[in-house]
Amino acid sequence: MEVQENTKTTYTLTEFQAACKAKCPRCRRGDLFANKMYGFKSQIMLDRCPHCNLKYEREPGFYYVSMFVSYALNVAEMVTLSVAIYILSGTENPYIYMGILFLSIFALSPFNFRYSRVILLYWLTPGLKFNPEKAKDFPLIQPDEK
Ligand SMILES: [Zn+2]
Repeated sequence: MEVQENTKTTYTLTEFQAACKAKCPRCRRGDLFANKMYGFKSQIMLDRCPHCNLKYEREPGFYYVSMFVSYALNVAEMVTLSVAIYILSGTENPYIYMGILFLSIFALSPFNFRYSRVILLYWLTPGLKFNPEKAKDFPLIQPDEK
């Protein structure tokens, strides 16, 4: 029996794992962001995938749509948090709600910034799908590829 040597390994992250790790939606290997989610520097999104050279900003103003995703994430978090505060403390003091929600908006803003773009790229961009060919160790990169 002949054993074929496989020199081009493919990466096997599931779509959800890749999204959680903020990887490129096409190859699931390159990072979307240049630095960590929480830190003293603001988050820097890369222009292109370092692995498959996918241009992340699909068209001018592409990330405006992520504001709507971010808004939806914020609403979901605030509603969840408000219900949790009510269930856990039973209080109806509006200042407690306002204080906790205000602090959580700041605490969650890096998360919302990052994952609104991830959700936009993974599930709200037509024609952008996982490509196993691009996930190989040495993908062929055309220089003018979009
Ligand atoms: Zn990529």
